[in-house]
Amino acid sequence: MITAVQKPFAEIQAMVEGYSNLLVLGCGTCVTVCMAGGEKEAGILASTLRLAGRQKGLKMRIVEDTIERQCDREFFDTVRDKVEAADAVLSLACGVGVQFCSEVFAGKRVLPGLNTRFYGTTEQQGIWSERCAGCGTCVLDRFGGVCPVARCSKSLLNGPCGGSQNGMCEVDQENIQCGWQLIYDRMKSLGLLHLLEENQPIKDWRTGRDGGPGKIVREDMVLDT
Ligand code: SF4
Ligand code: SF4
Repeated sequence: MITAVQKPFAEIQAMVEGYSNLLVLGCGTCVTVCMAGGEKEAGILASTLRLAGRQKGLKMRIVEDTIERQCDREFFDTVRDKVEAADAVLSLACGVGVQFCSEVFAGKRVLPGLNTRFYGTTEQQGIWSERCAGCGTCVLDRFGGVCPVARCSKSLLNGPCGGSQNGMCEVDQENIQCGWQLIYDRMKSLGLLHLLEENQPIKDWRTGRDGGPGKIVREDMVLDT
């Protein structure tokens, strides 16, 4: 899933100041799972904004709603009236949802309530961690299913670097596991350590961010216009 965290309340409050009719719009998919921008969070944030606005003597009408996904056009139909009635939308979706909401409702101010972080997994309740950086050419088969791009701080394909100590990464020895230690341990348990002796060729980064904005075109699915 795409993970995100809510922006600091003071930042959100400053962003929405001046709008008298605000829609707080949650998203029911990834950001619900990582408890940043789902129905519950949209409700709490809307209430907190109402309270804070009242304390400041502001006249703000704040309503909230949540749709299944803000990254697909069809789900916006149920909130079309509310979006049109608002003078701004505070979107609690990831950056994709915020931008898509803005495209669907051209001319409407759409503000981001979250800071989008990474593609990750739920390690345990309240802890999410990165697993994939969307590089566009997956190499997990060569590394026992542990991603060197996302889990090594330097994205080394021929690791480790000299900074790995006691299984931890030199970038933050308290909190970041060395991705290459994880790769080594996994390959060892699979009896595949000999594969790590092969030098990995230079990766073509153009399929990821380095190639500019990505696009997938499935000719077999595109409708003729
Ligand atoms: S190799 Fe690329 S696509 Fe595969 S998990 Fe890592 S970042 Fe994601
Ligand atoms: S210590 Fe490990 S995770 Fe950190 S940069 Fe070096 S190889 Fe990568």
